[in-house]
Amino acid sequence: MSIPLKTIIAVFSARCHGDDSSAIIEHVSIDSRSSHNGVNTLFFALIGPNNNGHVYIPELIEEGVRNFVVSYIPEGLEEKANFLVVENTLVALQKFAIYYRGLFDFPVIGITGSNGKTIVKEWLNFLLSPDFNIIRSPKSFNSQVGVPLSVIAINEKHNLGIFEAGISTVAEMDKLEPIVKPTIGVLTNIGTSHDEGFESTAQKISEKLKLFQNSEILIYKRDSRVDSLIFPQIKTFSWSFEDKTADVYVSQVKSSNHKTNIWYQFNGDTFEIEIPFEDMASIENAISCLLVLLYLKYDNATIHSRMALLYPVQMRLEVKNGINNCNLIDDSYSSDFQSLKIALDFLESQNKFQKKTLILSDIFQSGLSDEELYGRVAKLVVANNIERVIGIGETISAFKDRFVNCITYKHTADFLADFENLDFANETILVKGARSFEFEEIVAVLEQKKHETVLEINLNALSYNLNFFKAKLKPKVKIMVMVKAFGYGNGGLEIASLLEHHQVDYLGVAFADEGISLKNDGIRLPIMVLNPESTSFSSIIQYQLEPEIYTLRGLNNFLKVAEHKNLSHFPIHIKIDTGMHRLGFERNDIPELIQTLKGNSRVQVKSILSHMATSDDEAHYDFAKSQIRLFDELSLQIMTELGINPIRHILNSSGISNFPEAQFNMVRLGIGIYGVSNDPEEQKYLENVGTLKSIISQIRTIPAGDSVGYGRRFMAQKETKVGTIPIGYADGISRAWGNGVGYVMIKNKKARILGSVCMDMLMVDITEIDCVEGDDVIIFGESPTVVEIAKALHTIPYEILTSISQRVKRVFYR
Ligand SMILES: *Cc1c(COP(=O)(O)O)cnc(C)c1O
Repeated sequence: MSIPLKTIIAVFSARCHGDDSSAIIEHVSIDSRSSHNGVNTLFFALIGPNNNGHVYIPELIEEGVRNFVVSYIPEGLEEKANFLVVENTLVALQKFAIYYRGLFDFPVIGITGSNGKTIVKEWLNFLLSPDFNIIRSPKSFNSQVGVPLSVIAINEKHNLGIFEAGISTVAEMDKLEPIVKPTIGVLTNIGTSHDEGFESTAQKISEKLKLFQNSEILIYKRDSRVDSLIFPQIKTFSWSFEDKTADVYVSQVKSSNHKTNIWYQFNGDTFEIEIPFEDMASIENAISCLLVLLYLKYDNATIHSRMALLYPVQMRLEVKNGINNCNLIDDSYSSDFQSLKIALDFLESQNKFQKKTLILSDIFQSGLSDEELYGRVAKLVVANNIERVIGIGETISAFKDRFVNCITYKHTADFLADFENLDFANETILVKGARSFEFEEIVAVLEQKKHETVLEINLNALSYNLNFFKAKLKPKVKIMVMVKAFGYGNGGLEIASLLEHHQVDYLGVAFADEGISLKNDGIRLPIMVLNPESTSFSSIIQYQLEPEIYTLRGLNNFLKVAEHKNLSHFPIHIKIDTGMHRLGFERNDIPELIQTLKGNSRVQVKSILSHMATSDDEAHYDFAKSQIRLFDELSLQIMTELGINPIRHILNSSGISNFPEAQFNMVRLGIGIYGVSNDPEEQKYLENVGTLKSIISQIRTIPAGDSVGYGRRFMAQKETKVGTIPIGYADGISRAWGNGVGYVMIKNKKARILGSVCMDMLMVDITEIDCVEGDDVIIFGESPTVVEIAKALHTIPYEILTSISQRVKRVFYR
């Protein structure tokens, strides 16, 4: 895009503060971390429940960004950039998208519904891409923010748009409709999701239908709940399994062997298609796509051949363990410029390894000339610090010289033949290719053998939770995140990398070894060690870790080592015991502590801290407050007598929520970031981070009177279908969770644990569940939550999380 700032000012009727309204806007951003921000960026400072874009403006100005849409001008910045002041920055973003959409006049397919939006969008993209230059929403960008961003990515070369719109309550669709302005509407399945945001199903459907109020056609499945609500002026093109008067009547559906044949009647003839899926949701989504093709007058032969190639849509980027200690990001089903940008952003945020490799196929339908396209790709590659590029395809091979370190192959098979010579090791590899290149074969050779039991970690949820707590902090209060015990069992390094990316101020670990391993893996954030053993002081110094000092003995030992190594101003942290009675200097120790530190330049007191025993327990708030008061007093004494001004901190997660007045200069966030709260109210606002998953290894049916497992502790009263799951107490599943106490989830239904949990396995009751061997099993996650399990086992969520053994593979995704 290339739009004068003046034009945009007029679009918003905004007040503009700044000197340079002659600026030209080429790029719109809401993400302060985007590597594309620059002089020609227009940054919208959005305000969300957990984040405020205005906070990032100073650093953005430093990076060269000059144009901001704001609801207020942050103090002291009035003269530093152009500020378009509006009432609501999100509304402004939407207005801008409406204006921008108006600059283009080509068919746009708008998709909404309860389920299947993203799949239908991705499939339509695949089915139509041979004939159009398509712009589509990236991933599932379908929200009040996502839709405008998707539309703003349109450029001059596109000639078809496919956008999805999702709503969770009334009045939202009215805002999205003029942004998408669909000419062809597709309503997918209407289910129960987001029911809570509406008074009735009819209201929900009516709201969704608003997307199509100006469309030339609405494609949908005949449904008595929908029919009567459609605007009379809208033409429809409908399908049905039952109603022969629908435009397309699906007369027969036959599934077997992972395939489904679908017969349909259209214009008086019967046709057949085949799709490589068996489940009902996929069948309905495929039929929605079929109707779009029919409406666009595709012939049956083309429809038939393209539908047979539909593929499973990957809804997210997944980090997998690769061979030779590599990390693998599998995005092997699509290759277009938009999604490449997103995937490269994700790749850059992974800093386990310096070395990053991009395996990329030819890119289709970018809307740009190849010349321009590969020029842009090369720029992205440099901006995202990608060390080598492996290009596969005729076109990318022709543009090999655009890249600094690039190997190319004409075909995927050539790459596979040469694979051994490419020395993949200790690096992060992004595999990104169009469907036709069959990059799943590349993923297969690069991926380490899959494990059946995994702990999946949702990194987005972690970021979300971090922001939730950040939003509670006063300006300038720093944040230390505790990543002890492998990030509370969730995975130390990956989480530390993410936190580094989010620029938290400190990490906290329990022992020196944990810190050393983070430093060895390239983490650069300062790390405080809560419980440094005297024997580890040398390595603490060598690895630039920062010890917590809690006794005079420890202090003297550390000073000896510091003396020996001739250190100067080495950072240490002083822990005061204010009532927890675990570690720390007591009131009586303080004079000698001060005496020892006075005039000693070997060390520098970086911070003074204490830890609360009851920050989560209302019954003991008085005690908590007395701890805070004592901390304030003793830390002030140290500061005054030593004439220093260190960081002070006492709050853990529940402290942040319950004692906002005691934030001092830093807080120490632990369990909260992992999505767990002691407060059921707060719990509602946190997102689940870890999901422990396994599969069903074997299924059998036993008659009444038979037993299951060691000691015959379960006796079947009636015929019972039993599933065996390969996870046991050696993986961290407490035996107390067995024998009818606990359950797992299979197909969204509870399956009670039968008999005792074994070392490596447990058995569950699946009599009422329609499932097969190999099906997924959820041990904990959204349901049951670790909080529920902890309650039933009379312990705390911390113990459940940190008990999951290291032999359980961790898989990280966004
Ligand atoms: C573990 C720990 C924290 C974090 O506690 P949460 O309750 O998980 O937030 C903070 N400070 C110290 C000293 C800790 O040991």
